[in-house]
Amino acid sequence: MKPTHIEHLGIAVRNLEESIRYFEDVLGLECYNIEEVKDQKVRTAFFKVGETKLELLESTDPEGPIGKFVEKKGEGIHHIAFAVEDTKAALENAEKKGVQLIDKAPRKGAENLNIGFLHPKSTHGVLTEFCCK
Ligand code: ZN
Repeated sequence: MKPTHIEHLGIAVRNLEESIRYFEDVLGLECYNIEEVKDQKVRTAFFKVGETKLELLESTDPEGPIGKFVEKKGEGIHHIAFAVEDTKAALENAEKKGVQLIDKAPRKGAENLNIGFLHPKSTHGVLTEFCCK
């Protein structure tokens, strides 16, 4: 049940293009994919840092989850995603241990991964995602 690695860090930004420029020009990373995830009301941009990715999230709707997050807290780290072998099993295991789930069952996220979120109230304030291929 142990995660194999940190799959990605989710970072909420106000402006995707401006943020991409920072990560490319200053950190020398390369954006390899931009994708809209309609049901999450976000546009995402991906960078690889070794085995781990950075996922920049720009809201497409002020009422969406990232829109509300940026309004309340500003830009910054939004969630941490752990790579697991089986998202469904990882969610069930967390629930069995008393963790509040946001997703009772896996759903499709960016890059066609099977993802599921744990509620930050149960995870010491860190919005936590499990994902698998
Ligand atoms: Zn994510």
